[in-house]
Amino acid sequence: MDSKDIRAQFLEFFKSKSHKIVPSAPIVVQNDPTLMFTNAGMNQFKDYFLGNKTPDSNRVADTQKCLRVSGKHNDLEEVGLDTYHHTMFEMLGNWSFGDYFKKEAIEWAWEFLTDVCGLPEDRMYATVFEGDEKEHLEADEEARGYWKALIPESRILNGNKKDNFWEMGDTGPCGPCSEIHIDLRSEDEVKKVPGRDLVNNDHPLVVEIWNLVFMQFNRLADGSLKNLPQQHVDTGMGFERLAMAVQGKQSNYDTDVFQPIIQSIAKRAGVTYGEDQKVDIAIRVISDHIRAISFTIADGQLPGNAKAGYVIRRILRRAVRYGYTFLNFKEPFLTDLVGQLADQFKDTFPELDAQRAFVAKVIREEEVSFLRTLEKGLKRFEIIKAETKGKVIDGKTAFELYDTYGFPLDLTSLIARENGFSVDEKAFQAEMLIQKERSKSAAEQSTGDWISVISEAEASVFLGYEHLEAESRITRYRE
Ligand code: ATP
Ligand code: MG
Ligand code: MG
Ligand code: MG
Repeated sequence: MDSKDIRAQFLEFFKSKSHKIVPSAPIVVQNDPTLMFTNAGMNQFKDYFLGNKTPDSNRVADTQKCLRVSGKHNDLEEVGLDTYHHTMFEMLGNWSFGDYFKKEAIEWAWEFLTDVCGLPEDRMYATVFEGDEKEHLEADEEARGYWKALIPESRILNGNKKDNFWEMGDTGPCGPCSEIHIDLRSEDEVKKVPGRDLVNNDHPLVVEIWNLVFMQFNRLADGSLKNLPQQHVDTGMGFERLAMAVQGKQSNYDTDVFQPIIQSIAKRAGVTYGEDQKVDIAIRVISDHIRAISFTIADGQLPGNAKAGYVIRRILRRAVRYGYTFLNFKEPFLTDLVGQLADQFKDTFPELDAQRAFVAKVIREEEVSFLRTLEKGLKRFEIIKAETKGKVIDGKTAFELYDTYGFPLDLTSLIARENGFSVDEKAFQAEMLIQKERSKSAAEQSTGDWISVISEAEASVFLGYEHLEAESRITRYRE
């Protein structure tokens, strides 16, 4: 099955179980002080779980654009080095708002993976919450019971609070979860070490694919748990990981989700993907980052100096530098990948296609601007390396790279790591504070990337840059 089919089959399957198929929410979160980017499928349904709003359908399913580069979920450092964490990824999900609960969620997940996707039953493991005495939480025997009816007990594993108990925040809905993991190793490897010993151990070929969350409690401010009046299901499955399993690959990057972009990057660099580890990492990072950058810009977040805008700029600069150092890209190159990505996702996320020229233009400008200082910054880094006694780059120096050459801290840390150094990040933050104090008023002005003169309510729905221009709404981008 190609990835388009897999996505379609997922939605079709849940449609056949009376779910309403809804569009992905924008990847950029508006009007939520707790979250900059959508990091899970459930984000857009938060108000249903909190009881603030009533859904028109109590069963929905979708594929959600997610970004995990800040806050509770930050996978940035893994991306490209491993083969199954991305910055931007699609999370397939099905939800029950006070309707079905554990039985159906478990049985349908299993039916979809085995019957529809044809994944090998004996390579999959289910985890259930083992309970937590300190918190007076009982083990999830109910979920275990439903799994027992489907798979041998040897493939049902206990999971601790960290992996198998989900909480929205310090207070609010929460409950146990049950995850499905798959072992993609060769027969020989499986004989040596059973897959069950590797679940949740960061083995690149024994990966978590689906998380089924059962919301049944409400945590109150005093820390106690009350049963929720209604029970909900919230599931999330990594689409690219599912594609890897279904297509018999051992890396998300080997699926047809990533290969077209990977081949374009390799062709431009005049290299073959799969021959040199450093080159491959650079290609993977770029193929990942271009998605994050393109989809967030298309959803209304421009790169900028602060907050969400700076997150995007950091990702972009990271990609530019990987290209520059390992693929010899001395001219803007990310911008040229936007069209291909837009074509690839035309049917699923048409918003990128609709704004492809604008997105490409923004990315080009960012690339041109960073390429102006990148080479000088890298030369400066070589001098710093030679002059640094010991293996720690001090805060002042990291700040100089930031301030003069536009190196975000995570980029300096990454380059430092590649060279066997580390950065005194605390001291860097202290330097940042000193600078903020110095130019307090300027810093205050640049807290947001949008200067908006339209009402909050209007601003909450981003309809595209052209729409903004057409309606002559004054939302400007500030460098
Ligand atoms: P992991 O333990 O692999 O980091 P997780 O437990 O943090 O995953 P969940 O929050 O349970 O992930 O998200 C639901 C599903 O989304 C996961 O089972 C996985 O398939 C997928 N997923 C999570 N993070 C990523 C990522 N960074 N890139 C791609 N897919 C992801
Ligand atoms: Mg994670
Ligand atoms: Mg996990
Ligand atoms: Mg999980």
